[in-house]
Amino acid sequence: AVKQQVPPEADLKGKLKEVFGYGQFRGVQEDIIQNVIKGHNTFVIMPTGAGKSLCYQLPALVLPGTAIVISPLIALMKNQVDQLNAFGVNAQFLNSTLSKSEMNRVKRDVISGEVRLLYVAPESLTKEDTIEFLHKATISFVAIDEAHCISEWGHDFRPEYRKIRGIIDNLGSGVPIIALTATATPKVQQDIQKNLQMDDASVFKTSFNRTNLYYEVRPKHNTKKQLIQYVKQHKDQAGIVYCLSRKKVEEIAELLRVNDVRALPYHAGLDPQVRMRNQDAFLHEECDVIVATIAFGMGIDKPDVRFVIHYDTPKSIEGYYQETGRGGRDGLDGDCLMFYSYDDIVKLEKFNKDKPVTERDNSKLLLQEMANYADSAVCRRKQLLHYFGEVFEKDCGFCDNCRHPKERFEAQNEVLLALKAVVQTGERFGLDHTATVLMGMSNPHVVSYGHNSLPIYGEGKDHDAQFWRSLLRQTLLNGLLAKDVENFGVIRIAQKGLDFIENPHSMKLTKDHNYDEEVKVEQQQ
Ligand code: ADP
Ligand code: ZN
Repeated sequence: AVKQQVPPEADLKGKLKEVFGYGQFRGVQEDIIQNVIKGHNTFVIMPTGAGKSLCYQLPALVLPGTAIVISPLIALMKNQVDQLNAFGVNAQFLNSTLSKSEMNRVKRDVISGEVRLLYVAPESLTKEDTIEFLHKATISFVAIDEAHCISEWGHDFRPEYRKIRGIIDNLGSGVPIIALTATATPKVQQDIQKNLQMDDASVFKTSFNRTNLYYEVRPKHNTKKQLIQYVKQHKDQAGIVYCLSRKKVEEIAELLRVNDVRALPYHAGLDPQVRMRNQDAFLHEECDVIVATIAFGMGIDKPDVRFVIHYDTPKSIEGYYQETGRGGRDGLDGDCLMFYSYDDIVKLEKFNKDKPVTERDNSKLLLQEMANYADSAVCRRKQLLHYFGEVFEKDCGFCDNCRHPKERFEAQNEVLLALKAVVQTGERFGLDHTATVLMGMSNPHVVSYGHNSLPIYGEGKDHDAQFWRSLLRQTLLNGLLAKDVENFGVIRIAQKGLDFIENPHSMKLTKDHNYDEEVKVEQQQ
């Protein structure tokens, strides 16, 4: 890498205006850009739409050499490059869609030093001749977009992403890295930093709270009727309905059409031209509702999406949050409505049957988190943000659980029992085991650890497993317990929990939803 001269601040603002036409940096963009220009490793965790791209695009303009941008999606790559070219920036890409001669031209341009940004697909990056070529180029830094693809715990794992570090090392010492992602649970974040060996990186993380989005979960019952009713109530508004299968997408798009809703399908099985046409129709307001698989939305920047509906239960909270995040980009309110049934979870688990064991286990845990989220009567925002490692103290007032709170019960004694159970079992177990010990149930694990002779064993036998799991999860949310970052699923006691054991005080918790009951009650009305 070439040693960089740091341009004065005024230059950056000037460039921002001159090239991109923006008068101001957004949030911490400028700090991030400065950090990259200084040649430090940088880790950016910001929600979709926050303006992450600029954080590597601008430094690429002011630093000598070419910035390598690793990006997972070929379609998006072309979009970004086209956009940059329209701004008059020499950006190019290298991926499997190029012919041999086009590839050679791109490489020649890069080596000659004219290219500011070179977008590369991870699978091209690992090719022998790409590596050889990169050795001849002058590289300013490497940007790794969608860095969560590195982690098996993310929602979009790409094995090739794991080879990136090795390739960068191979390029010679001192090439700085900027990694960017919109989805980082603490676990994924840790994976990224570990895998890219950038423990020294400056981390820029902004809140993931989307205050203008309303979250709601409804039991998946009479779903078609509920959907039609909802969409009709939101006439002429733009919305996305996500379904899990292509077949379902077609079916629901058709259902909406026969109900006079301007709806179109979008999924990977459609002819690319039709898909593009439907996407454009949605962007240009010739259609109101796009019914889609999760293939839709990556890189789509439509500001006025007023609702995002999950017709089927999503596979993970990360995915769900990413998808709901496409609502309300303009800052006006957006509704996020999810239909949930445990049957969906079971069905999704079955799909995972043929996957390798670790992947299957991971998927199962992600699904379980999804089910817990849906079942819980705790403020949705609090749960979501907690999932992303943020503490949200108060209830938000802008979700279904806040609008229609369930009755709370005094849980001081039970919380105390739960905390003691975690302490007495040595802070090495998960929710299920802790619940089993509390209830005084026996299984080979309990016996082999001798937990059946702990003082706490059976102290919570008045409640069932569902009660204890729910209580433990709420105790996690309240910060009395904490997830072990090293060992997934293991819970430990937090300082707040130790304080509680010393000085127990009133604590009101809620019972989980019982959607079967709720549906029954509704039917009786
Ligand atoms: P992300 O990658 O974080 O999802 P993008 O980089 O796609 O977000 O940016 C989202 C939108 O914000 C884009 O339309 C981009 O042009 C715009 N944007 C980024 N930075 C600024 C800025 N400083 N001022 C105005 N608009 C900006
Ligand atoms: Zn809330």
